[in-house]
Amino acid sequence: MELKCRLSKSLVTFKSLHFPYKREKQSSHRYRVSVGIGGNVGDVKRRFNHLFVMLKKDNRVEVLQTALILKNPPFGFKDQDDFFNSIIIMQISMQPFTFLKYLLRIEKKFARKRSFANAPRTLDLDIIFFDNRVVKTKNLTIPHIDWSSRNSVVIPLEGLR
Ligand code: ADP
Ligand code: MG
Repeated sequence: MELKCRLSKSLVTFKSLHFPYKREKQSSHRYRVSVGIGGNVGDVKRRFNHLFVMLKKDNRVEVLQTALILKNPPFGFKDQDDFFNSIIIMQISMQPFTFLKYLLRIEKKFARKRSFANAPRTLDLDIIFFDNRVVKTKNLTIPHIDWSSRNSVVIPLEGLR
């Protein structure tokens, strides 16, 4: 079943099979991370549910919580379909760069093609927070750059508190 709620002219939230989700028990993994998920090609909500099932089976991560799914207009390159976004909170024991590589591999598995900045994508996985860590390197910025000004992050996150 799917529940839809219109927040404004351009913003719609969805409840889907595994979104939102909450697990009470913590795992023994060391770090708590928030991962932003997004996409605007094909059946994105179905893909999110597929991703959830995949992560649930992977003992390198423990999914603790997922947020609502938000449909919202693209930014940057505007001439493309609206995006679907959500947040997955998980526990992991990997270090930030190992985790980034892990996420990029999953994007690939879901057939993401990199073309140009802000281009349409099947699945985008971004590290929003990694415990309270700050990382500022060429290939990795944590917390994610301008997370606080993006509806796609702030609205799903808000529902988690
Ligand atoms: P965006 O998510 O900004 O639309 P991409 O998904 O194409 O762009 O990401 C491009 C690169 O951004 C990744 O290969 C990665 O090296 C870098 N990057 C920097 N900080 C992060 C982060 N916090 N989470 C994910 N990727 C990041
Ligand atoms: Mg990304």
